[in-house]
Amino acid sequence: MTDWIDAERDVVFQNYGRQPIVLERGEGTRVWDVDGREYLDFVGGLAVNVLGHSHPVVARAVADQAGTLIHTSNLYYTKPMIELAQLLVANSTLDRVLFLNSGAEAIEAAIKLARRWGHDERGGAHHIISFNNGFHGRTFGALAATGTARYREPFEPLPAGFSHVDWNDLEAVKKATTDQTVAILLEPIQGEGGVNMPDDGFLPAIQAWCRENNLLLVLDEIQTGNGRTGTLFAYEQYGLDPDIVCLAKGLAGGVPIGAILARDKLAAHLVPGDHGTTFGANPLAAAAGVATMRHIIDEELPQRATQASERIRERIAAIEDRVPMVTGLRGLGLLLAITLAEDVSADVVVECRERGLLANNVRPNAVRLMPPLNVTDEEIDRACQIFEEAVAAVVAARA
Ligand SMILES: *Cc1c(COP(=O)(O)O)cnc(C)c1O
Repeated sequence: MTDWIDAERDVVFQNYGRQPIVLERGEGTRVWDVDGREYLDFVGGLAVNVLGHSHPVVARAVADQAGTLIHTSNLYYTKPMIELAQLLVANSTLDRVLFLNSGAEAIEAAIKLARRWGHDERGGAHHIISFNNGFHGRTFGALAATGTARYREPFEPLPAGFSHVDWNDLEAVKKATTDQTVAILLEPIQGEGGVNMPDDGFLPAIQAWCRENNLLLVLDEIQTGNGRTGTLFAYEQYGLDPDIVCLAKGLAGGVPIGAILARDKLAAHLVPGDHGTTFGANPLAAAAGVATMRHIIDEELPQRATQASERIRERIAAIEDRVPMVTGLRGLGLLLAITLAEDVSADVVVECRERGLLANNVRPNAVRLMPPLNVTDEEIDRACQIFEEAVAAVVAARA
């Protein structure tokens, strides 16, 4: 295994702090490294592997499509792209889909659509309000919207027209709104920022503010979408009626894809020549998306995510009683963060990995869990047991 890690160091940009394991194969919630060690994967490719690793439904769709037609460009129509759009439209409140290749690209497209609308309908209003600790991606527009200064500052100047206010601070949103404001962009639950929940009533109040001021409500559901929070989209649970929804991560079960959804009238503002991408919903990615979305819907996996979440909540509550370092659990469905009394999450993640559990230290004092929606009860119990042992080991090492 160290051979591969040494080889990577010689030839690959060193821009990631990777865990020192080389993964080779996966099945469901389990992955194996090149030495044959097995792990329970509660990172799930960063909330991507909604059906787990190499789910037969996705693997078959990709293999069949690969042998039929992989890529055509958007100069032509292809069936998988249209089928995936039909599925998204039939199962959302929105009318139309624009396909991209990643989360950041979905955000870029949403920014361009919002600005195009502002140009056409709002006298050139273009300013976008987003939130501190929010995460929208690493490209320039998405980075300008991202609410973590240390991600932005080394790359300034960024595109103008973005401001950030504190999460759950409605008054700050109101203060930041001007006649140049065109949209409010937010994650219903902040994922990378630490699984930060909206306060009761916050999201509906933001929506009311948008309506009152003729602003677009743009939801980044790249992490919360595709069934993860217990409904196909998180906005359903908050009574929201968004103008634009951004998707990526889980949409094609692990194959790179991105998308934005909007209603007819808004979507019509992007005309031929305004935006495009060579790969967007190419047949391979779109076929994976169709297989993934159909399976999520047909197997009622959002409901399964809620059941699984309840089981994790019970197990973690029990651990809280036994291990004072563990202080709670936040999140919704299978987007969860276990909170710790001290900044030991990086050590806990290492101890988990050594015991065969992959988890993510999303904050210095919080461990994020994003298992597949079809995770089994046995896998949850085993993962929680490993987590408890890992925390105990970290506490013992510090004593
Ligand atoms: C991951 C993520 C992005 C960026 O997606 P990429 O595919 O990495 O560009 C944007 N927004 C949210 C909420 C995300 O979780």
